[in-house]
Amino acid sequence: MVLSDIEIANAAELEPIKDVAARINIPEDKLIPYGNYKAKIETDMNFKKENEGKLILVTAISPTPAGEGKTTTSIGLADGLRKIGKKSVIALREPSLGPVFGVKGGAAGGGYAQVIPMEDINLHFTGDFHAITSAHNLLAAMLDNHIHHGNELGIDVRRINYKRVMDMNDRQLRHIVNGLHGKVNGTPREDGFDITVASEIMAILCLSVNIEDLKERLGNIIIGYSYDGKAITARDLKANGAMAALLKDAIKPNLVQTLEGTPAFVHGGPFANIAHGCNSIIATKLALEYGDYAITEAGFGADLGAEKFLDIKCRYADIEPNAVVIVATVRALKMHGGVAKDDLEPENLEALRNGFENLERHIDNIKNVYNLNPVVAVNQFPTDTQAETDLLIELCEKLGVKCALSEVWAKGGDGAIQLAEYVVEAAEKPSKLQFAYDLEDSIEDKVNAIVQKVYRGNGAKFSAKAKRAIREINELGLSNLPICMAKTQYSFTDNPKSMGAPTDFDISISEVRLSAGAKFIVVLTGSIMTMPGLPKRPSAENIDIDSNGNITGLF
Ligand code: ADP
Ligand code: MG
Repeated sequence: MVLSDIEIANAAELEPIKDVAARINIPEDKLIPYGNYKAKIETDMNFKKENEGKLILVTAISPTPAGEGKTTTSIGLADGLRKIGKKSVIALREPSLGPVFGVKGGAAGGGYAQVIPMEDINLHFTGDFHAITSAHNLLAAMLDNHIHHGNELGIDVRRINYKRVMDMNDRQLRHIVNGLHGKVNGTPREDGFDITVASEIMAILCLSVNIEDLKERLGNIIIGYSYDGKAITARDLKANGAMAALLKDAIKPNLVQTLEGTPAFVHGGPFANIAHGCNSIIATKLALEYGDYAITEAGFGADLGAEKFLDIKCRYADIEPNAVVIVATVRALKMHGGVAKDDLEPENLEALRNGFENLERHIDNIKNVYNLNPVVAVNQFPTDTQAETDLLIELCEKLGVKCALSEVWAKGGDGAIQLAEYVVEAAEKPSKLQFAYDLEDSIEDKVNAIVQKVYRGNGAKFSAKAKRAIREINELGLSNLPICMAKTQYSFTDNPKSMGAPTDFDISISEVRLSAGAKFIVVLTGSIMTMPGLPKRPSAENIDIDSNGNITGLF
């Protein structure tokens, strides 16, 4: 019988978190326990380069609805590295309640490669998202309060682009009118809610390198414009100090463990479209400080997740991966090769061979655009045949790239011994991260560099609206920030249906938005949903708790 994720997690023997911490020499006075199995870690954030272990980035081919398994592979790989005697530490994103109750489920890995206590990690955890929600909504409240009390700054209520947030998929709140019911109850205006993971403060928390940096970034958030066209910031509203105070604990990384007792920092969880989609810099730095191998994941496929990890996060954090694991599945590559989702089970070497072009392009990007060392992990599913996995390994080897079968979902760390060995080998090879663009380039040139080098398209076409926004960013003197692409994750193009490795296409840029606090320029292709809705049958319908406090139905 195949056990569910929560059944496997519930059967696991948890080690006290202080023992897990002691194993990587985290001093006891740096440990702030949240019960017996979770802790926050105190840090002066004064990280030293010479104390850094090797950084391993886990990314993937262009995702398909068939599911890739980056988080699962990251966790299993770290367990595998420990099995071959390496001190490995994980850094991952925190799950959002939205997907937990919606379609996708939790984000704590799967099968025998999970971080635990998974029900806590998936439900509220240590309250970081609550703190981010509060900090975000404090600024919203101060903004409307400012308008209510005379609007000294002359904020144009038609040009406010700062919404409210909550950590729930709730489409009902996407567009609202508030401040109704007369003079004492505020100023009526159009407003809306985003999900907390889409808050700029989530991105800020994850990109800040210390408290000073956090405060500076919070102060830089632009909430909208005045009637005479001046950008109004959180600093203008004197909100940044109190917002930072609310984040005092949220900025400290959380420590948990895998099913096999490997230490894992789970901290921060920004969207991977309008934000950069990886855990906090501070958590990654802690993993590098306390581990010889720090394993971390970037959201979506490598064209988006790894691109942003490398071009945004690595720049701000002054880090670079020593090896990059690209997760692929036989099923997904067959889909890239033209097979429909319902026909994935039968062996199909032809489709696999065709779909391989998607993996090949991602490998080429990591190797030749970013100048890093790739390793392919084939996340094995029960339906994969020997001939299929053999072919995939052979195709990778022809490109001179090591490819290991990963059976971590079924076997935990034992399923990643070869992968761990390949990763150690790759991480020994010299490499020097080369960014896809220079910050000094114009915004248009930076976007074109990503489109041409990483997606392999002809170039970007900017809408009139996007061009206007670029002019405004140039006028603010902020054109030298990195680019955060918000594109479909399913394709190298901006069309989710265009799978494989398409050529001869343009990318249409609909909008450009400045995240002055997070310090990146969001470039949107099409519209991006920042407040998801629940599906007809939300997974919340299956979640329950018994009289002993045991949770069921989480996945
Ligand atoms: P990602 O991080 O790429 O979004 P996850 O690691 O969260 O993907 O995995 C997505 C889902 O697929 C999870 O529910 C996980 O349990 C499941 N999954 C991952 N790998 C396998 C596998 N090899 N066999 C079966 N299910 C898997
Ligand atoms: Mg994941």
